[in-house]
Amino acid sequence: MPTYRYTAKTDGCETCLDGFEVLQALSDEPLTACPSCKVAIRRVIGGATCMTSQRWNEKKLLSDDNLRKNGFKKLVKSGDGKYVDVLKT
Ligand SMILES: [Zn+2]
Repeated sequence: MPTYRYTAKTDGCETCLDGFEVLQALSDEPLTACPSCKVAIRRVIGGATCMTSQRWNEKKLLSDDNLRKNGFKKLVKSGDGKYVDVLKT
């Protein structure tokens, strides 16, 4: 599970002004309020853990298996100038 970093949008308590981290599943809704003082908070994109899992997801999304499963074509130019669907088996 990735760790997400949150900070207060404007004003907040000691916890959220400095920012804090929450362990959340990818499917969890992002937090919108500080658990301690209830001010509006936002998720900070770009934490190390977060970046890694995003990259991993992109790779997985563009894998041949996933493209095929979702009905995409992957056209690659073959030697004689024609495009062939490499996912077609
Ligand atoms: Zn707070």
